[in-house]
Amino acid sequence: MTNISPPTTLMQLVARSRKLGMDRSICNWGGGNTSAKADEVDFRDRPARILWVKGSGSDLATVTQASFTGLYLDDVLPLLERERMSDSEMVDYLAHCFYEPGRPRPSIETLLHGFLPFAHVDHTHADATNYFACAADGEALAWECFGDHLIWIPYRRPGFGLAREVALALRAKPDAKLVILAKHGLITWGETDEACYASTLETITRARNYVKARIAHIGRAVFGGARITTPSAQERRAVAAQVAPILRGLVSDEKWQVLRFEDGEDILTFSNSQDALRLTKIGAACPDHLVHTKPWPLLVDWEPDQGSEKFVASLHAGVTAYVAKYRSYLEANERQNLDPGAALSVQRANDAPSDPHPRVILIPGVGMFTTGKDAAMADVSAQLYHRAIAVMRGAEACGGFISLNDAESYAVEYWPLEQYKLKLAPPEREFARHVVLVTGAAGGIGSAICLRMAQDGAHIIVTDIDLAGAEQLAASLNQHYGVGRAVAVKMDVTNEQSVHEAFEQAGL
Ligand SMILES: [Zn+2]
Repeated sequence: MTNISPPTTLMQLVARSRKLGMDRSICNWGGGNTSAKADEVDFRDRPARILWVKGSGSDLATVTQASFTGLYLDDVLPLLERERMSDSEMVDYLAHCFYEPGRPRPSIETLLHGFLPFAHVDHTHADATNYFACAADGEALAWECFGDHLIWIPYRRPGFGLAREVALALRAKPDAKLVILAKHGLITWGETDEACYASTLETITRARNYVKARIAHIGRAVFGGARITTPSAQERRAVAAQVAPILRGLVSDEKWQVLRFEDGEDILTFSNSQDALRLTKIGAACPDHLVHTKPWPLLVDWEPDQGSEKFVASLHAGVTAYVAKYRSYLEANERQNLDPGAALSVQRANDAPSDPHPRVILIPGVGMFTTGKDAAMADVSAQLYHRAIAVMRGAEACGGFISLNDAESYAVEYWPLEQYKLKLAPPEREFARHVVLVTGAAGGIGSAICLRMAQDGAHIIVTDIDLAGAEQLAASLNQHYGVGRAVAVKMDVTNEQSVHEAFEQAGL
């Protein structure tokens, strides 16, 4: 008979985290963190109570045991008796609490987990509870939805202060079942792994059903109804292909950006809507989105029947105005933070990137472009904006969408601990941020060139008269270097029409 040992707490935690992460309406990319407290035996054979918590910068959907860090709980808990602690003190302190060396820096929300008395804790930025967290009447409606099981914490930036406030609120109300962090997210827990997962799902389902019923009851058209009619998919794609290189030029003033286009139903419904004009000025739907989406998208002032000349002019004007607005947001907050008494004092590190160009560009009737240093990061911005649209829709039925104010946004966007997550990425290679078109790419020399350029960070348009060969190569490049790094396009270099079509596809 084989002896199968039961799963360890860490194994259970990895499995639970992945289950939560698989549903993007529960955990946006890179957002949310989970923990479990377990009795372990340390390197000197001493029994120890360990807090296993997700490391900074990893994504719950793909975590492994190596993504988690163990901390001696006995070392973490005394911090609760302190009144205040700066971010750098917190990071330094936690670095001394490691159960095993060589593990990642623990999540910036570690103390939120450590201070709670429950064995298993989930912290998510679920759409459904953010309907309340990001709405003008959200608090009153959350009380109506959850009754006395709720603890509501007004917005404050994550870190020591927030963790302590949540812990003290729970001390005062030990039978609470959930905490909603205004303009931020949700905390749920359980004494076992299963109970914790069940509580997280139940809470989210309850909020979702409640808001769904409200949306139906209010009966208002989604985002106030359409402002313009949507052209056909073919027409949308034609416009997008034409405009993509121009837009890429406009947003690459400081650094080359890679663009990604999509025109899914929620994107079109939102960007074509009456309410988009107002909602796109409000701010991010979760602090976690900020480093990937900036506080606002650019909604281009154009309608499909206004023609392409006006389009290019609107795009120029839109990007220019966005850059000016973003620069004044930076300057205003940097000035304010020179005041040592400022409540949200953040000193932007000198090396923190501050490219003022939009990361999310909505074009009414056409779709959405997102930008990033590579296709994967442009994809992250896009995924987060889908979440933002979903949250805005629910929040609009709860008294109206609200968000962080400029000072709060800045304090998160340029928070050194958020910027740290970005710095975990390896340094950029020679052809990073470049898109390279290779002809005859399916052949021996062509594919060797593609491989070499991809290795050095380039995104490749693999063109060849042999489409099947090009597709095979593109698939293998995507497998090795990440989704979106290569696309295959059929092109016959001796045929002008074929070259023209290939460039149009390449633009997309
Ligand atoms: Zn959070």
